[in-house]
Amino acid sequence: TKKNPNEPEFLQAVLEVAETVIPFIEENKKYQNKMLLERMVESDRIIMFRVAWIDDKGATQVNRGYRIQMNSAIGPYKGGLRFHPSVNLSILKFLAFEQTFKNSLTTLPMGGGKGGADFDPKGKSDNEVMRFCQSFMTELSKHIGANTDVPAGDIGVGGREVGFMFGQYKRLRNEFTGVLTGKGISFGGSLIRPEATGYGAVYFAQSMLETKGDSFAGKTVVVSGSGNVAQYATEKATQLGGKVVTMSDSAGYIYDADGIDAERLAHVMEIKNELRGRISEYVKKYPNAKYVAGARPWEVKCDIALPCATQNELNEDEAKALVANGCICVAEGANMPTMPDAVIVFQNAKLLFAPGKASNAGGVATSGLEMSQNSLRLSWSSEEVDEKLKGIMLAIHASCVEYGKDSSGYVDYVKGANIAGFVKVADAMLAQGVV
Ligand code: NDP
Repeated sequence: TKKNPNEPEFLQAVLEVAETVIPFIEENKKYQNKMLLERMVESDRIIMFRVAWIDDKGATQVNRGYRIQMNSAIGPYKGGLRFHPSVNLSILKFLAFEQTFKNSLTTLPMGGGKGGADFDPKGKSDNEVMRFCQSFMTELSKHIGANTDVPAGDIGVGGREVGFMFGQYKRLRNEFTGVLTGKGISFGGSLIRPEATGYGAVYFAQSMLETKGDSFAGKTVVVSGSGNVAQYATEKATQLGGKVVTMSDSAGYIYDADGIDAERLAHVMEIKNELRGRISEYVKKYPNAKYVAGARPWEVKCDIALPCATQNELNEDEAKALVANGCICVAEGANMPTMPDAVIVFQNAKLLFAPGKASNAGGVATSGLEMSQNSLRLSWSSEEVDEKLKGIMLAIHASCVEYGKDSSGYVDYVKGANIAGFVKVADAMLAQGVV
């Protein structure tokens, strides 16, 4: 707290890990001394830089860019770039810290990193976004590389932005390498990467439900967000027989009692990805649905909840409402969407609760598969990548059970994910000496 006084999100993420990992360290002599956790909370390196660019009116704009290179014990830094006005050091450090554990859980050789800028893509033209991305990459290119640090997308950074940044990196360095993931299919992107985070979260929830002999079939599902993760979580939950009744954005949520099926989801994708509009526009085409302004969807009765928008979007009262309404399973698609008090509500109610670092790891895992394909100069089929993704989500689930199951049989997935993620990074750090 003394070292990072103005970083509440970072402290929140560290506290959650420390609460479960410190007792484990105390029981395991090998991990004592050597200041392992103390070293893990200190970034290898933080880069902060000016991003100046010119808008369509010819005026100069200035934003702040960041890259947090958190931990490279088990592989090159890996983690997304976020473009959102709320971006600051605390948010990116929390994300980079979480990413280190998440990447370790994927079983792939990737260290932890995160970056972005306080740039707001909303309302900007394609040309403005391109000029911003080019300016951002002009500085970032000095610090990343296919074997050093491989960024990807996150909030506000999708295929369009990754394409512009890749083009600028290639121009500056005159090399065609897998320096970014989430690329377009025609220039080294992996099939299933856009789907991977949402699909992975649903695969993980499915594994949790299977431990109770249950499944998505016939279940009512509440999803928050309407971006990349929310869209593909909705698609997979529907394919597995669930009925998704809500999606949201920062202004409110839609409730469609008929279910957001494939056709309706295609309309959401058109609104959000092509027209870059608001979720409220959904009710114009589907008037039976209702739009609730200024609220989040957790008040809606459901069996399964998938928070897929942003951090701290589900509070204690909302958790109590979900439990009271009979919700049995919560799997985080977003990073740290559930507030600490709300996690306790879920755990006390013995709900199946998965933290994002386990349940949303499918995105970065598939980014790891994109890196492998780029190194091999090969492209795998959708089926091949999807099978690998399923296998990785199953392996993460098994690790969580291994480290998180108590004597009563209840699985604390938070504890399981934190310890399993910690062990691999800690072993590598021990072997590499005090650095
Ligand atoms: P997108 O930018 O595609 O979508 C973000 C969605 O969340 C939008 O619907 C957005 O609404 C909403 N949102 C953003 N900020 C807020 C806010 N402050 N309050 C309420 N809603 C908000 O991002 P992604 O879908 O890629 O990311 C969503 C979450 O998933 C993030 O937590 C991200 O870190 C996490 N994640 C993403 C991965 C990926 O592969 N993309 C991988 C692992 C985790 P609006 O349009 O109004 O801004």
